[in-house]
Amino acid sequence: MASKIHFQIIESASTFLDPRRDFAPVTESFQVRFDPLTGRTGHFSHFGAIKPQPLDMDKYTDPQIKGFCPFCREQKNRATPKFTPEVLPEGRLARGEALLVPNLFPYDIYSAVLSEHEGLGA
Ligand SMILES: [Zn+2]
Repeated sequence: MASKIHFQIIESASTFLDPRRDFAPVTESFQVRFDPLTGRTGHFSHFGAIKPQPLDMDKYTDPQIKGFCPFCREQKNRATPKFTPEVLPEGRLARGEALLVPNLFPYDIYSAVLSEHEGLGA
């Protein structure tokens, strides 16, 4: 007799310093779910945080329209999150035009975003 399929979920969380909360530590939860048939895993996070919105495709053809960019030189220090001091005492890692910051929507304990942005050079 075959055994029942078991769905395994591991609950975990990631902590970073959130620019939307004056760089207070914020902990976001995520799950690692195991496929009972293949054994493969998937990471699920930021439940309900991102709501799909219809895109105005015509605006993409106009190069004059620019949206908010958290990685631009003027914004990056106040708009991007920082790692906690235990992870990276300086908060962010910058090399040339590359900037490494924690992911605002983490899907693992350590989840980062690397931006290679023209004009960021140190
Ligand atoms: Zn930019």
